Amino acid sequence: MSDIASRLEQIRERMTSACARAGRDLKSVELVAVSKTKPAELIQEAVDAGQSLFGENRVQEVMQKKPLLPSRLRWHLIGPLQSNKVRKILPLVEMIEAVDSLDIARDINRIAAELGLHPKVLLEINVATESSKHGFSAAQVRAQLEELYALDRLYIQGLMCIPPFDPSPEASRGYFIQLRTLREELEALGGAPLPVLSMGMSHDFETAIEEGASLVRVGTAIFGGR
Ligand SMILES: *Cc1c(COP(=O)(O)O)cnc(C)c1O
Repeated sequence: MSDIASRLEQIRERMTSACARAGRDLKSVELVAVSKTKPAELIQEAVDAGQSLFGENRVQEVMQKKPLLPSRLRWHLIGPLQSNKVRKILPLVEMIEAVDSLDIARDINRIAAELGLHPKVLLEINVATESSKHGFSAAQVRAQLEELYALDRLYIQGLMCIPPFDPSPEASRGYFIQLRTLREELEALGGAPLPVLSMGMSHDFETAIEEGASLVRVGTAIFGGR
């Protein structure tokens, strides 16, 4: 078995245990294998081990790698998107996970209409309100929710967050709870379901699952360091 195959197997086992602890169905959580900076050959090893959903944080990398790999793979853009790249990325990915402002949401909506697409998106929430991080503050997303829902090409499916890095997974728990609580509040405010919570990375994905993650984005623990 390749290193990547055995690491993937371990992660799936840990996901299964975390689901069991939380009384959740394993099918309610999906693993996004974060393949940024890794070449297509390594991604193919993960594909051979049964992985079909991948996350990339740069438009250019998706454009380079996607044609080298099976067309049935699904891709999520997990990094910030600049307006001049929207037209290129929209036809290539299943979901844009890090919509971080009303402006970029409007650009995506306009270009999706031109291209005849209905992209799935998540709103990135800056849970620790760090000035260095992208995303809506809780107050902003509450204030702009109506305008976001008015963008009728977008399927706003949920929320994502990247808490401040701390090697202890327990340090993330409060932020994950915050994201889940905000989801409930926005569902009530907007009157629409937000079923997807994208949270948890290599060091804290089990905590994220315990707190309700439906997508976990794991890179290093699968592909090794970058
Ligand atoms: C790189 C990245 C990840 C994966 O991080 P690891 O610590 O390598 O698991 C997850 N989410 C986002 C947004 C990333 O940029």
